[in-house]
Amino acid sequence: MMLLRCPWCGPRNVTEFRYVGEKTSRPDPATTTPTQWRTYLYTRANVFGWTVETWYHSTGCRQHFSVERHTLSNRTRPVQENS
Ligand SMILES: [Zn+2]
Repeated sequence: MMLLRCPWCGPRNVTEFRYVGEKTSRPDPATTTPTQWRTYLYTRANVFGWTVETWYHSTGCRQHFSVERHTLSNRTRPVQENS
């Protein structure tokens, strides 16, 4: 069983959450080319190691939040402010 810490509800079983994806910043639609949009929508870094992800607490508080997760060990930690 994997525990994930919701900032509002505390540690819960990961089955209560839905994985949204890697955290990325949305480009400005007014200045973005089609190639940049395609990269934003479909290309993922898929890193080996620590990555910042967005999760949704679907059976709890229904809030989105970010968490850092190690892709090999599934250890998690709160997001650092500069990530
Ligand atoms: Zn929650």
